[in-house]
Amino acid sequence: MNKRQLYNIVLLVILILFVIIFLYFANDYVGKVKGVSEQQDDVAKIIFLDVGQGDAILIQEGWTQILIDGGNGQDIMNRLGEFMPMGDRKIEFMVATHPDEDHMGGLIKVLSLYEVGEILESGIDCDKDLCEKWEELIAADNIPVVDAKLGQEINFGEDVDITVLYPFMEIAGEEFKNTNDASLVLKAVVEDRSYLLTGDTESKAEKELVASNLDLSADVLKVSHHGSKNATSAEFLLAVSPKQAVISVGENSYGHPTEEVLTRLRNMNIEIFRTDEVGSVRF
Ligand SMILES: [Zn+2]
Repeated sequence: MNKRQLYNIVLLVILILFVIIFLYFANDYVGKVKGVSEQQDDVAKIIFLDVGQGDAILIQEGWTQILIDGGNGQDIMNRLGEFMPMGDRKIEFMVATHPDEDHMGGLIKVLSLYEVGEILESGIDCDKDLCEKWEELIAADNIPVVDAKLGQEINFGEDVDITVLYPFMEIAGEEFKNTNDASLVLKAVVEDRSYLLTGDTESKAEKELVASNLDLSADVLKVSHHGSKNATSAEFLLAVSPKQAVISVGENSYGHPTEEVLTRLRNMNIEIFRTDEVGSVRF
């Protein structure tokens, strides 16, 4: 073997070593990137779904979902299709804050098309067609129903905790002239952030909550009743002191969200996300 041949062999060995090292690190790198994206799918998210004028909030972790209200029914199927894993046809836990069309209409659609594991509601007296249909579907599938009251907890995995803050006592079977006064209020902690979910609560419940010693503080406030002026008082905002607020709202004739509420939020430097402006809001 002459010098030239030896030189070529050494060069070849170095080249092969380079290729091996490159493949090793490249594979490791691809593995890491893949690991990150897989992990992100498992991270719990809360999404304020754009369902026009109404409320629908999806908490999603992997193949587990909690759905809080469903809008009026026109958009909920498309939104779930966007944010749920393909092939997942089960909502593990469903919450109906109160029996109004713009919250429960969509839940009825979901009940008839998805499997639903368990339901939390107020259980107030309701003779609307909407409620008849709701009860029919629940009975047909024999879905367990819990009537909400203060202190009840819903835990899903390590990253999602929901606590009922309102009503203070069970109100199942009671009659309400204004169903908004019976709206459930929940505090959800998803990953490390807290969310106050107020349904269509108005000043009566807000005052009771502020007067209670409950910890209302939250990073994000779901502004009550689509930004109606009868809710989201300055006192209530002070007790919650959120950094961000979501207003779930669409085209409507009620003037939602009202200038009064928008001004109160702005005065406290709270960042506002409106579903009619930015679509679904995901945290
Ligand atoms: Zn509403």
